[in-house]
Amino acid sequence: SEKEAAIAAAAAPPPADAPTIFDKIINKEIPANIVYEDDKRPFSALPDLQRVLAFRDINPQAPTHILIIPKVRDGLTGLSKAEERHIDILGRLLYTANVIAKQEGLDDGFRIVINDGPNGCQSVYHIHVHLLGGRQMNWPPG
Ligand code: IMP
Repeated sequence: SEKEAAIAAAAAPPPADAPTIFDKIINKEIPANIVYEDDKRPFSALPDLQRVLAFRDINPQAPTHILIIPKVRDGLTGLSKAEERHIDILGRLLYTANVIAKQEGLDDGFRIVINDGPNGCQSVYHIHVHLLGGRQMNWPPG
């Protein structure tokens, strides 16, 4: 089933330094439907470690399904690896999710998800915030 496939895909966390498919998206080596990208100028006021990229999920679970990620992973394979130095980027990921929700016209609400580890059904070990909207969400999640 789809659920079993998701659980199988999430079963084995890779080593912390392993690259993921999101590196290829960040480096524009594979195409993505990018909806938001922080400033790329070399002398931006925004430090590298705080810059984010957002693109449409390739397997959307709602009419709007966007992933918001840090451009520099800095050890943040998942939320469970967060340290104090990550507080700024974590705030920016959520702040940007809200900016994009407005850009997408999700005025009646939306859902934010961060899957972590095997039990959380995480499949890509580069932290990402899911922004889901455009339909009525259910609770509890599966
Ligand atoms: P996770 O299961 O929370 O780790 O979420 C990973 C998400 O990345 C899933 O929803 C996938 O559909 C999505 N995904 C995987 N590869 C790509 C890609 O190449 N482009 C866009 N989304 C992707």
